[in-house]
This record gives sequence, structure tokens and C-alpha cells, in this order.
Amino acid sequence: MTSRLICPLISSDIDAMRREMALAAKVGAGAVECRLDYLQPVPAADEVVRLVSDAPVEVIATCRPAREGGNFQGDEADRLALLAAAAEAGADFVDIELDVPHKDWPGAAVIVSQHNFETCPENLHDLGQQLDGAGGTINKIAFMADRPEDSFDALEVIGICKKPTIALAMGEAGLASRIVARKFGAFGTFAALRGGAESAPGQPTLDELKGLYRWDAIDSKTLLFGVIGWPVGHSMSPAIHNAAFAAAGVNGVYVPLGVPPKAEEFNSFMDAILDRPWLDCRGLSVTIPHKENALGYLGKNNCDPAAARIGAINTITIGPEGTLRGDNTDYAAAIDALCRAMDIAPKGLAHKAVAVLGAGGVSRAIVAALSHYRAETTIYNRTVSRAEALAKEFSAKARPLEAADELEAEILINCTSIGMHPHKGASPLGASEIPPCVKVVFDTIYNPLETELISQARAAGALAVSGVEMFVNQAASQFEIWCETPAPRDVMREVLVGKLQQ
Ligand code: NAP
Repeated sequence: MTSRLICPLISSDIDAMRREMALAAKVGAGAVECRLDYLQPVPAADEVVRLVSDAPVEVIATCRPAREGGNFQGDEADRLALLAAAAEAGADFVDIELDVPHKDWPGAAVIVSQHNFETCPENLHDLGQQLDGAGGTINKIAFMADRPEDSFDALEVIGICKKPTIALAMGEAGLASRIVARKFGAFGTFAALRGGAESAPGQPTLDELKGLYRWDAIDSKTLLFGVIGWPVGHSMSPAIHNAAFAAAGVNGVYVPLGVPPKAEEFNSFMDAILDRPWLDCRGLSVTIPHKENALGYLGKNNCDPAAARIGAINTITIGPEGTLRGDNTDYAAAIDALCRAMDIAPKGLAHKAVAVLGAGGVSRAIVAALSHYRAETTIYNRTVSRAEALAKEFSAKARPLEAADELEAEILINCTSIGMHPHKGASPLGASEIPPCVKVVFDTIYNPLETELISQARAAGALAVSGVEMFVNQAASQFEIWCETPAPRDVMREVLVGKLQQ
């Protein structure tokens, strides 16, 4: 069975709903859900008949009562009469809540549904069995996700139910359940016609599902990848990796996975992934604040020695048998971006004076690499003790950030967040100019494309290297580790720059 992209129509005006139905059919929705409970005033039966007869696409008629999160406030008999009119007029499906006594709905197949806008029910499997035993043809379960793992429970129910099933986790944490539903043969998933036209929290748009997540390419063999972070909603990684899968012909889908900051939450998420080999999860990018948690979960023995030395990983690879491997692709990505721009091999960094601004996660990876290639590094940081601790580990020097206005170095690398939101327009050097001794300025920030520091570098005649190339490099290396095939770097760069220019 092909999983449908179901476009909910939530206009309050019946003529507008009819126009949206035509538009949804035109842009590739497999079905529309006419939400009769959104119409104002409550339509007459003959208006419903005009709405659904001769529809250009499969129609699900729904008139959700307030008790299940809908807008219909009227009499139950009137509500069911509207649905009966829709069924007789040719609606392909009517959505009937589980608590409504079973009856035949001549003309339409019945979707028996259950909604929970509060939480993930503990007894999801029982609920699935209950729906299987109800009188409908299709099951629908929708619940509010508390944690990203809840998405996997929804996907599991699709596989367990005997009837075609829609099972989805609502809210941002449930996004994966909506995207990956097709892999498990769900009856369908809901996709809004445009941003702002969502009928439930966390619902992606048709464009996002078809374009960004390549819904039409997902099948039972599709491998799952994703980015773990908090927050993760604005990550560029899904756009870059999904475009790379498309360009390289890899049967994979890459989703955002928002895991709250604590190590226990990271651990429980990873346990949930590994307990469910049927998800076919093969790779995870790890971003702020989980890079150290990821190393802790995998253990140094399962990680690349350079990653273990840095103390953080940004790439997890999961073998088909559940084996784990951790890598840090930021390390080589940064050095490669810098050295290519300078047209030198990494060993050419030996004995060069480098000033690194910042002592956080990215600084740590870069300082470790600079130490490996025997550069002479001085770390400048707002919190001097952090700079001192990092310097001690990698034989560098430490200074306060204010001292950077008199730095003496050939290469200047910014690893602070000054220059990105909410510090856009600011420079980590403040009002100071780039000292004449600095020949190369590498700003690891990639959003915005042109930071104040990069502008200062150009004005001073120094070679300016933005964080874009580093970001593309780290993503391309992840792709190559997971897919064992060359990454389509040009496509990845084009997608990233395109998004940054939006
Ligand atoms: P992090 O661990 O949070 O470290 C942030 C650093 O910025 C710390 O040194 C911090 O100093 C300093 N900082 C923050 N706000 C400051 C302020 N108002 N004044 C002075 N110093 C301030 O973050 P991270 O993961 O290392 O990321 C750092 C940068 O790397 C970000 O700007 C990000 O754009 C960039 N990045 C680039 C890539 C890429 O692929 N191109 C990937 C990831 C990150 P304290 O120690 O005093 O707090």
C-alpha cells in the first residue's frame, strides 16, 4: 500500500476550502482531510455535498468534536449527520472517533481515530489492538510526544496493527514519526498546505515532506539518519544531508532529533534507538550540547583516538548489528578548510603562530589539531580559567580575550560565538582592527555568511576564510563515513549557502 500525504484543509470558509482542495491536488497531496469542524457557520448538509462531490483527490471527511481537540461545539447528532452527508456525497473516508458507537457509513470507508493532546499513552499497543477490533477499515492514533523516543513508539504501532494505520506523535518531538511513517507502510501522514495551515502541532508542510525529506523516495529499505541537538529546529544538517542522499542515490532519510540537554536524556534516547533495530538507524550527527555526552555514552574504546583526545564526538555510526563507532569530523574539517584556503598541507602549520579566540567545543577540536601539527597556539578567552585548562592539555598559551587587541600571530581563528545571532554585527576583537602581522583570518561562524570579523579581515587585506567550508567538510566526512562513497560536496555547499542567503 502506498502511504498517502494527507493535506488537512482548515479554512473557515467553504468556498476557500474547495479552492484549497484543488490546490492540494495540484501540488501532489494524495488525499485531503476536509475539517468540517473548522467551517463557520456550521455548514448545511447540501453545502457539504457540494464540497466533497467530484473532488479531484481522495477525501477524508472529519468533524472533530471539542472533546477530542476539534472545534465542533454542536449537537452530536448534527455532527454525525454532516459526516453522513459527506459519505453519501462520495467522500472516500469518514473519520469517526473510537468512542462513537459503531455503525455502517454507506459510501465511505471508516477511519476509527483516537487523539491525546496531552501525552503519549502508556498502553499504545493495547490501543492499537482496540482499534483493530473496532468496526473501521483504518486506524488512526495521534498523541502528544513528550520525548523524541515517542516517535519510535508511534512507528512501532503502525507495524503491529493488522489494519492500515496512521500513528503519529504530535509536537516538535514527534516530527520523526510523521516523516518516517512511509517506511513502515502507514496509511498516510498529514502535511499542511503551507506554513500556518497546520491542523495539529508539529505538522510539517507538504513542501517540507516532499522536498526536504524526500517523502516519495522513502520505502521499507530506507535507512534512518538524524541530528541530535537541543535546540535542533534550525539545524541546516537535514537540508544538507537529504540533498546529498538524493544526489548520490543513497536510500536514506535524515531527520532532526531534539534531545534535551542532560546526559541521562541523551543516554535514554540512544538506548531507545539501539533497542529498536527495525528502525534501521545507521548514523547520527551530534551537535550542541551533546558532543561530550555522546563520547561518554559510546566510551573511548568505540571512538576514533583523535575524538577521544578531544573529548567530544559529532558523528555516531551504528552498524547493522548495533555496533557503535564515534568520530569527530570537526577536527579535520577545520584544518582542511584553513589549509586549502592557505594552499598549504596541514604539516605546513608547524611553528606558525596562531591565535585562537574562544575555549569551547569547537576551539577544543581546533586547538587539538593545531597541537597535532605543532603550531604555536595562544588561546584567548573571556573565561581565562577555561583557556588555561585547554592550553595546559595541548601545550598552548592562555590569555584573556581583552588581550587579543595586541595579539602577535600570523593566523587568527575565531571560535567564539561573537558575530553570530544574537551577537550579529559584533566582532570578537571589539573596535580593534586586525593587527598587521595577521595574514589569515578564519571565522568558524557560518551564519551569517559574512561576519563582522570577516569584513574586518578583508578590509585589512588578510586572507578571509568563513565557517562555510568547515561546515560542509564536517558534514561531507559524516556522509562518507556512513555511506562509504564520495560525498557530493558541491551539492552540500550549494544547499547550505542557499539556505544562509534566504
Ligand atoms: P561553546 O562551546 O558554547 O563555546 C563558546 C565560546 O564563545 C566560549 O569560548 C565562550 O567563552 C565564548 N563566548 C560566548 N559568548 C561570548 C561573549 N559574549 N563574549 C565573549 N566570549 C563569548 O560553542 P562552540 O560549539 O565551541 O561554538 C563556537 C562557535 O563555533 C560558534 O560561533 C559556531 O558558529 C561555530 N561553529 C562552527 C561550525 C562549523 O562547522 N563551521 C560548527 C560548530 C560551531 P566562555 O568560555 O567565557 O563562555
